[in-house]
Order: sequence, then C-alpha cells, then structure tokens
Amino acid sequence: MISETVNCDGHPVTSTMLGKQVFSVNSGPYNAHSGFVHKRLSSGPTFTSGTACAFSCRYCYVEAMVRKQAAVRKILRDAGRSFDQVVIRRNDPRGQLALVLTRPGGRNESGVRVEDILQPDVTERWGLTGKRSISSRAPRFIGEEFRGKVVFGSPLVDVAATPELARETVDLCEMFLLLTSYDLRLLSKSPNLASIVAKDLADRMPKETRERVIFGLSTGTLDDAVAAAIEPVPPPSKRLEALHWLQDTGFRTYGMLCPILPQVNPAAYAKAAMAAIRAEKCENVWAEPVNFRAGKAAKDDDEVAARNSFEATLRGLAKHKKEAERFQNVALDENAWEQYCRGLFEALLAAAPKRMNGQTKLIWMQYPRNFESIPHWLGFEANGAVLLGAIMSLYRAAPFVLKRAGINPAKLVEPLVSGAKPGAAYVLGMFPKNLRAELAVGAGAVPATEDACKAVIGGLNAIIKRPLKLDEGEQKSIYVADELQGVTLSAETRKLLARGQGLDAVECVRLNRLLLEDVFPEGITRMVG
Ligand code: SF4
Repeated sequence: MISETVNCDGHPVTSTMLGKQVFSVNSGPYNAHSGFVHKRLSSGPTFTSGTACAFSCRYCYVEAMVRKQAAVRKILRDAGRSFDQVVIRRNDPRGQLALVLTRPGGRNESGVRVEDILQPDVTERWGLTGKRSISSRAPRFIGEEFRGKVVFGSPLVDVAATPELARETVDLCEMFLLLTSYDLRLLSKSPNLASIVAKDLADRMPKETRERVIFGLSTGTLDDAVAAAIEPVPPPSKRLEALHWLQDTGFRTYGMLCPILPQVNPAAYAKAAMAAIRAEKCENVWAEPVNFRAGKAAKDDDEVAARNSFEATLRGLAKHKKEAERFQNVALDENAWEQYCRGLFEALLAAAPKRMNGQTKLIWMQYPRNFESIPHWLGFEANGAVLLGAIMSLYRAAPFVLKRAGINPAKLVEPLVSGAKPGAAYVLGMFPKNLRAELAVGAGAVPATEDACKAVIGGLNAIIKRPLKLDEGEQKSIYVADELQGVTLSAETRKLLARGQGLDAVECVRLNRLLLEDVFPEGITRMVG
C-alpha cells in the first residue's frame, strides 16, 4: 500500500520535506541480515525509517539499490517524479520495530518480560498503548549472545536529515537500547545527529545505556564550497563542529571519510582529514573513494543511467573546474581510477592512528573494477582494506563454478534431461529456455555429446551463480524442501542450511553448488572442504 505520509507518532508530519513530496511504504524498518556486515559497519542487522532520503547527494547510490522494488516504482510512476525528488518513509516504524524486537509469549528464555523493562510513559511516547501495546510480549534480542553486536542505521537514508526525522530516530534508538542488548551505529550528514539525537538520548537514558551508541558524521570533502556542489546538505564545517561536540561531550564516535574526490596531494588530504575528524578520538575511520553505482557514463539508455551518479556529480562540479577535471579523469580511465584509489589508501593508511596492538583504525572500502587489481588489494586486507562489490563476489564465487573436468557426462546429462532422479526435474526447470531447447527437453533420450555437456554446464552454472544477480536482502539459494524431496543432503549442505537466512551471496553460491552435487552425486565431482 502506498500513501502520502500520515501521522503515526504525534510529532508534526509534513507532506513535503526539504522541498520534496513525501510518500510512505509499508516495508518494515529492520533487516536482520544486511550486506553492511561486509563493510564492518554492522554485525548483520540494520534499521531504516525510510527508503528515499530527504537529502539529495549527487553521488548517492541508494536509487541503484532500491529502484527494482515494486513500491518504489509505483510511487515514482504515480508521482511523475524522479527518485531524488521524493522522500519515501516507512509507515509506523515505531509500531513495526516494536513487533520485530519482541515476540508473543510473555517471557524470554531468561525470564524477562517487556513490561519489566518499559515504563508506561515510554510506551506512551512511542504511541504503543491500547491495542498497540507490547507489554504482554517478550524481548527477542536481550542476552549475552547479542551484547556488543552492532545495528547500523541507516543503509538507505540520512537518520537526522530534518528535526522530525531526527526525533523519529531518537525513538527507534531508544527502542533498541531498551528492548535489546545491541549496540547502535548511526550515520548522518546533519548536525541534528548531535543537537537532537545525541542530546535527546542523553536526556532519556543513563550514561551506560547511551554509551551503546556510536555516532558518525560523514565528511569526505573538507572544502565547504566543493561539498556544496555535490551534496546539498549542511556543510562539512558544521558536521565537524557537531562531531567535535560529540567527542568533547563523551559520546562514542567514528570517522566516515566518504566519498573522497581525487586529490592533488593525497598525503596532505589524508593528514588534514585525520586531524579534522580528530581520528585519535574515533573508534574506527571508514574511508571510500568515489564509486559509480548507476553507471559511469551517460551512454546507458535507462532512466537511472540518465541521472547516474557520475553525470550528476560531474554536473555539480561545473564551477570547480580542476576538481571536475580530476574527477572525470579517474571516472573514465580505469588505470587512473586504480592509481587514485591506491594513492589515497596508502596516504590514509600512513596518516591513520594505530591501536595499542599496532593495527590501523582505517577501514578502506574498495570496490575492485577488474580481476587484475584484486591480488594487490588482497595484500592489504590485514591493513584495513575491505574488498566489496560484484567483481569481488564473482572472484570469490569462481571456485564453485562447474568446469568440464568436474562432470561425468554419462551420469549427469541423461539423468538431468529425463528428470528421472529426485530433484532433477526441479533443476532442469530452472534452465533458461534457450538451453532447454538446445537439449531438446521432452523429446526423448539425449546423448551425452560435447554440445550437450556444454549446455548442461551452462545451465548449471547459471543456477549456481544466481545469488550474485540478486539484490541485497533477496539473497537466497535454490533450496526448496518440497522440490528436493528424496535427495540425500551432505553434512556440509545441512550445515549451511542450518544457518538459515544469514548467508551472503557467495555462501549461497556455494550452497547451490553443494545442492547440485547432492542431486547428481555421480554426475558432479564433489568439492573438497
Ligand atoms: S545523505 Fe546518504 S542516503 Fe541521503 S542522499 Fe546523501 S548519500 Fe544518499
């Protein structure tokens, strides 16, 4: 259901926000298995009270992440607006989050009840009274196993872009802090993070509880004028003031230098940036070069590519000719981009403070653009480089891809095409149409020729690699219990299945390979380990 936003919290709700029309969707605010775990920003869970941000940074990657969602498409179609012209919020995030963080049944395993934890004035503030009351429920995430785990907010929007959104974030944080044992990591480009979120939490919470929140203000560009050209949000100088206030007032903080434009002198930038964020007071310092998630040139004909992050950022830099020139150079030339990333990383690594054990505080998020660059970056994994993105997933998934030497044609082609074995018809049903036609499915016995082997390997590899094509949050293997009835699952397969939804894309690829080995134990050579 889609509606213009309606009041759900007692705070004033506007139908426009920072000049954008506001819509809402029913999606929940909590994701237990987010890809942000790979960025080390979270231990897995994230929360968000929106899908489209009130801010409009030109390099924003969020549209590329959510544009396939039916509700988002419908909003944009009905409103006749582009993604950066709307704010999309989640309906009733407080009510939805309260239900996710609790379960029916009165007491949890440790005997704790929600009504033992929450004072009536707190539930009233959250609007959870009467039929919406959660007092008869049990908290799900309280206990030793959840302590120290970090929930990140938000992967999709700025959590404090306006005072109204900042107050909503305060309530959601309070809910996490009271109903779970989790820590929280918040990221914003607005000083509201300090002046509203941190202050309100400090007013509501004892010191030891609010110390479970880690605050970060994103400041990739230190120059206010250049930043204004690409991120129409409060200037870096104001964000740094807010960060310093948080540090001086005793809040936990982390650094977020993102995105960093190409610099004339990376070493000077790195030194200045570490000093500006007072890196020695930050628990960690994340940093990232400019990435282009919606295409790097305007050749693509789809609507998103027409406003892709490359073109939009370049247009924004029109009045900053030197920055624009450097930016265009690294964006269009793969070698220049690689040199820019390496130079910046080395400079930041040299400038970043170290911990007592000698390890750097730097966490550098690198999305390799080609396979050749990967070995270089793998050499820096122990020094803060975190390798992310589609190319990296393909690289890590490569060992699970089926090769000609890994099959026994006589025990694979015929059993698969005839659908005679348990699970075979299900597997064959996932083959693309053209390969089914090549194999003449349904036209009788198929000899195990080299052409048939090629088609079978192509179809099975498409199945194995399927999770790499799915968006974050959709990642799943081909496992369906009913379809695989009668198939004996190996111990390794069962071990992965037992982990439920918490598998990443590459683990799902591995699970798919294992499942195919289980269906055709004599036709596919088993991987070892
Ligand atoms: S603040 Fe973050 S989510 Fe919002 S527009 Fe900027 S980059 Fe996108």
